[in-house]
Amino acid sequence: MIEIKPNIFNNFLCPECKSSKVEVKEIVFPGIHVLADCKCQICNTLFFSDFPIGHALFYPVTFNKSSYTIYDNENIAWFAKPLLNSYIYKLNDQISIQKKIYRQTKDIILLNCIDYLYGHVLLKLFNAQEYLEKFNKLGLVIIIPKQFDWLIPEGVSEVWTVDIKLKDAQNWFVVINDFIQNELKRFSKVYLSLAFSHPEFGKIDIEKFTGIKPFNIHNFTKQNPTFTFIYREDRLWTSGKLSSMISEINSQMYLFSLLKNILILFQKRKIIKTFRLLKNIFPNAVFNIVGIDTKGKYPAFINDMRKNKINISIEKLWCKIYSESHIVIGIHGSNMILPSVLSAGFIELLPMSREDNFLQDIAKSFNNRVDVFLGRFTQEYVRPIELASKIASVINKFPEAFIRYDNSFLGHKVYYETHKWKIDGN
Ligand SMILES: [Zn+2]
Repeated sequence: MIEIKPNIFNNFLCPECKSSKVEVKEIVFPGIHVLADCKCQICNTLFFSDFPIGHALFYPVTFNKSSYTIYDNENIAWFAKPLLNSYIYKLNDQISIQKKIYRQTKDIILLNCIDYLYGHVLLKLFNAQEYLEKFNKLGLVIIIPKQFDWLIPEGVSEVWTVDIKLKDAQNWFVVINDFIQNELKRFSKVYLSLAFSHPEFGKIDIEKFTGIKPFNIHNFTKQNPTFTFIYREDRLWTSGKLSSMISEINSQMYLFSLLKNILILFQKRKIIKTFRLLKNIFPNAVFNIVGIDTKGKYPAFINDMRKNKINISIEKLWCKIYSESHIVIGIHGSNMILPSVLSAGFIELLPMSREDNFLQDIAKSFNNRVDVFLGRFTQEYVRPIELASKIASVINKFPEAFIRYDNSFLGHKVYYETHKWKIDGN
């Protein structure tokens, strides 16, 4: 945690003369970033510098207030440039910010979850559990885009929800800054949460956030195999480089929308084929398809739970489906965080273009070797027969893998024959 009131964390260096004699004149909360408004006491350079929280823990941005120079910009353009642009084109729009107070406290930790990517918001929010468990004498105040309100865990002292669309969240919102500045006057002591962009998943109890218990691994062989495809039309399961390139073109032109519809049709055929192959192997299996887009009609043996618009009850319904799934299948970027942590296992189709983002959208902890067995990645052009056989292998080999890999079986004193429960349910 980083103290910002009454003592302001100050580990900033002047980007011009490298002096540590830096005065933090103000703290600014424009949205995603929390910035120190700095003045160098040696050379008088005026600059903004990120407090080291969220992604700024790894890539703190510093930029000159007058020349707009971004310092140390290598490899962080995606993070730094939008910030500078947002400063140049500050938004004065009125946006609604709702404040819910559950508990009055004088000393707080402020967890800023504002971000422009769904997964980033969710991952920052997961940091809440650490504070609720270990720092309960301090109040926890969460600031978050409104659509995530339903995931706030019990025990927080305040929630400030901002009604912004994620795609707009990279802006510099004057209103958000004014609101936070004003609210912080109520508190004696304020710390910033480090808001790890990838918190320690092994310690996160997802039920505290979603209200849904994750898949009980002890029931793996007792329940009919259940498979859920996470469906998206902007993250297509393609068959080759050309179709992959077309799928990534974001154009409203007739030709492209026609081609895209053809690719959506191909994707549908592949999903159905995979599920049919699995149905041949596991006749009692349950098949689901969930997602935001709804093109095409699926055969009756597939429970089509896709929706055009989502709301809290649909989000919860989908979470329930994930939690009952032996395997969820999705393409990288299909919001796999909740599915991967609620289901028993997952298979992610990882495009070559996303290799650098490996693991970023997966919330399985991998603290147990059986998690590695259950969490798999495959190439983007995988054929239905290959995918079905990968899935079938996970289901068929699970009992053996569980005995070999699960932490509960490790250690010389434990023999699986004498373990207090049996995995085959007999
Ligand atoms: Zn200086």
